[in-house]
Amino acid sequence: MTLPQLEISYPETVVDACRLLEAGSEATQAIAGGTDLLMSLKDGQKQPDLIVDLWGVPGLSRIEYDPGKGLQIGALVTLGQLIRNRDVLSHYPVLAQAAGQVGSVQLQGMATIGGNLCQDSCCVYFNRPEEVRLSLPPCHKLGGNTCHVVPSSADCWAPYTGDLAPVLMALGGTVTVAGRNGEKVRPIAEIFTGDGSRPVDLGAGRLITKIMCPSPARHSGAVYFKLRPRETLDYAVVGVAVSLSLNAEDSRCENAAVILTGVGRAPLAVAEAEELKGRKVTAEAIERIAKAATKLSHPVKSVSGTEPGYRRNMVKVHVERGLSVSLEAAMASIGDGT
Ligand SMILES: Cc1cc2nc3c(=O)[nH]c(=O)nc-3n(C[C@H](O)[C@H](O)[C@H](O)COP(=O)(O)OP(=O)(O)OC[C@H]3O[C@@H](n4cnc5c(N)ncnc54)[C@H](O)[C@@H]3O)c2cc1C
Repeated sequence: MTLPQLEISYPETVVDACRLLEAGSEATQAIAGGTDLLMSLKDGQKQPDLIVDLWGVPGLSRIEYDPGKGLQIGALVTLGQLIRNRDVLSHYPVLAQAAGQVGSVQLQGMATIGGNLCQDSCCVYFNRPEEVRLSLPPCHKLGGNTCHVVPSSADCWAPYTGDLAPVLMALGGTVTVAGRNGEKVRPIAEIFTGDGSRPVDLGAGRLITKIMCPSPARHSGAVYFKLRPRETLDYAVVGVAVSLSLNAEDSRCENAAVILTGVGRAPLAVAEAEELKGRKVTAEAIERIAKAATKLSHPVKSVSGTEPGYRRNMVKVHVERGLSVSLEAAMASIGDGT
């Protein structure tokens, strides 16, 4: 696999980067670590006429923590930086845990958090070598009108398999999206389209510059469980992020979130988890949320070959485990007065 001839620009400000992205064709692509993008260029899945390299833009590689304001992560912070950062390890260990499960150690050294959120979907048909892809009629993502994975579907079913989006969503994270005329803070869920052929839409000529997480609640627990065939390099065939906080007076739930990845066209928020607010987290409630998560999930044939039916069962198992482990951590922090 070799890279095609490419034109690359090296802007030195966010505004210049956005201007270049806006002026280019729809195919113009920003590049951060390149671990996702370069694969699709080599495979001919994407054929941009201009690449906008973000590394010359200052101020995007910092991690800052303030107990009152929470965590701010520049879009070019690498997963390796996240994994080693003291504030992340002390206050948001689930984020370091999830980053440590992305790809491999080498990949974590290059891959950025902004690129991780904006990565493309991962399809058993589309993410094949060109000869395989072109041996069948073009799918929705190739401008055709068929889906080779869910043939009855009128649109693209390529799943979103990113590991950090579900965790950041469970933690109540937001992103700063910058354009030529300013920036806007948006909930992370809003950047996902639910369309497999174009999973992320920031708007024309826009970039993520920062990712923010509020300070963690005092008595809380959060966990990310990733099911994958091998312990390295594989994408999530099921990923479950859970966060839960409790009121120290009566141990009732103050906040709960359960977000799935790898089993839908976007990270999926399980609405039933929010109904825990103000209630005790009982075994029955956990079971109800796990069943709702199973119903919400829609695993399709994956690159790893893992069966969709098995993965749906694993959604239930991992949601139950995630809620139980988070509850235990939150209860323990009440118990020991931390
Ligand atoms: C072998 C292999 C295994 C992998 N395993 C995993 C895995 O287990 N889990 C996982 O989540 N991912 C995995 N990935 C996908 C990818 O490596 C990671 O998601 C990585 O974090 C992408 O970051 P990057 O900086 O390299 O992105 P890039 O490749 O530079 O960019 C990816 C996309 O995001 C856009 N982009 C980048 N930065 C920004 C920004 N600031 N604002 C707007 N758009 C932006 C680019 O235009 C491009 O479309 C894997 C990839 C490979 C090749």
